[in-house]
Amino acid sequence: MKNILIVFLLFFNLSLLQAQHKTETIVEIDLNGIQEHALNVKVSAPKDQKTLEFVIPDIVPGTYMTLKYVDYFKKVRALDINGQEAEVKRKKNVFYISAQAPIDFLAYTVVDATSKRGIVGKPSVVEGTVFTPQSALINFNMLNGYFEGFEKTPFKVVVKKPSGFYGATSMKKLEESDQKDVLYAENYFGLIDQPVLYAVPDTASFVVGGQKCIVAVHNEKKTETAPKIKEVIEDVMHQVNNFSGVTSQEDYYFLIYEIDEARLKGMFKYMGTGSALEHRQSSVYYNTVLTERQYSYMYDHVSCHEYFHTITPLELHSEKIKQFNYRTPDMSRHTWFYEGFTDYFAMRTLNQSYTDEIALANSMSYGIATSQKRHKQSMIESSQDIIRKKNVFSFISKLKDLMAFYEKGAMIAFCLDLKIMERSNGEKRLIDVVLEIQKDYKGRYFRDEDFVNVLRDYTYAGFGDFYKQYIEGTATPNMQNYCDKLGWKYYPEGEKIPRYGNFYVKKDHENDKYTVTYTKGKNTLGLKKGDQILAINGVKAKEFYKDPKNEYYKMSFPKLGDSMVIQVQRKGEKIMLDGEAVLTKLKYARMKVLENPTEDQMKYKSYFFKHLKNVVEM
Ligand SMILES: [Zn+2]
Repeated sequence: MKNILIVFLLFFNLSLLQAQHKTETIVEIDLNGIQEHALNVKVSAPKDQKTLEFVIPDIVPGTYMTLKYVDYFKKVRALDINGQEAEVKRKKNVFYISAQAPIDFLAYTVVDATSKRGIVGKPSVVEGTVFTPQSALINFNMLNGYFEGFEKTPFKVVVKKPSGFYGATSMKKLEESDQKDVLYAENYFGLIDQPVLYAVPDTASFVVGGQKCIVAVHNEKKTETAPKIKEVIEDVMHQVNNFSGVTSQEDYYFLIYEIDEARLKGMFKYMGTGSALEHRQSSVYYNTVLTERQYSYMYDHVSCHEYFHTITPLELHSEKIKQFNYRTPDMSRHTWFYEGFTDYFAMRTLNQSYTDEIALANSMSYGIATSQKRHKQSMIESSQDIIRKKNVFSFISKLKDLMAFYEKGAMIAFCLDLKIMERSNGEKRLIDVVLEIQKDYKGRYFRDEDFVNVLRDYTYAGFGDFYKQYIEGTATPNMQNYCDKLGWKYYPEGEKIPRYGNFYVKKDHENDKYTVTYTKGKNTLGLKKGDQILAINGVKAKEFYKDPKNEYYKMSFPKLGDSMVIQVQRKGEKIMLDGEAVLTKLKYARMKVLENPTEDQMKYKSYFFKHLKNVVEM
């Protein structure tokens, strides 16, 4: 009995292996052959097929517009097993192949995402490719499509590479040697979800909450940048862990490409720089070469945002994402949730203690102001509407509309967070609720049209009305009502409040230097750009700026009739300036954290700023 079982299992396994081999798609590339940002690709077809449809995606998960990836595939040809040329016809984003004998392989050239100018339909590098003799950033939607009917079967990618190249990716490597790798994905979704960055290694890693994170960088101008960027991202990941407790036992890759600005051309050359795209075990970042000083603000919020996408939409999502349609886009209506909540969690994560309250209030005021300026749109309709007329104006207007998912979506998250904390006396936050839903829906998905009920069940009975008005409808919640609870006062752009004027002081505490770097219109103090501030109301600048509240309440939000005496150094001369706070029109919206909060407001503040989870030793 035992032996028979073994024979049966052996047979079963062998037949499985054969079946797998028959249907798998093998992609072969040689990075040594990159020329003029182009790479030759060979794709072996599944066995015994005389006709095949090779589909290039029109859209990929995490992006919200159809783009012309197919335009980057050139000179597509196919041969049958007898070496005879097969017929290849392209219609939209599909290549139709037919031959007399079974098709052997497809061969073509792909040009990278940096090699076309313009804006309409042009993919960004984060979802695209860069090919240079020193590097290859590969998102597979721009390297190979799938054969219709074989998108759910395995893909092998055979990569020949220059000696010393390392491929940073979450994808499984069946083979890895100095000049050749074999990558493996269970299906096309797995391939698209696991980009790879090839280059001479510039990497650094760290562990947070048991999860290993690898930062892999290709900077076109210098080496050894990863350790510096790692410092920023490591700090972010500790904060993510503090805020949410979220980590995984699987390795996570931050793949970063910094391009030499000198080789960007055309009017829209910066298009797509500063962007990022999420995957289940990695995220891709694209920037021009940055200075070390820029790392913090260019990578902290964005890496936090991308990592939180591992909750939604990568784990918690609707059927439209679970069964993603690459061929004919069919979008989920809940982008406001996937993007807005994710961005809100990043905002909260990076501002989780009392000392961050002003920063959080500032972020919220920016979000409220910009979301109110956008053209009014139903969040769910806008999610589904991804195809616009193919001209620059409609393309840019769609790009602007996309921002509403982040801005209004985050406002909605803020309102819900408050409501949840209010109802649970601060025991539960929005992040806890979303993690609860994620856990309950593990391995499953919600139906797009049922999501309102899911959220209602996990939040509060009246959520349906809120959804109808602000998510399905075009109205914006009355944000001041929510801000009141925290003791925050929102002043929209154009409102008159007591001010000394519009100016900005750059603070360099290390060198004891406080410089006016920006002024707009008149300021009652007579400050000029370039002035070095020495003392304020008789207090040395260093002392004054030591407590940020001094600047905030005395300089930024003075009371009507307050006055200020400032000693500055201007062109080598020490001079005294003075002025009074007068009603001034705000050039941009501001949020004021009121000075003397009520007991009730203190309670709400404690919900926001006292709720640290799983504090990890740093
Ligand atoms: Zn996002």
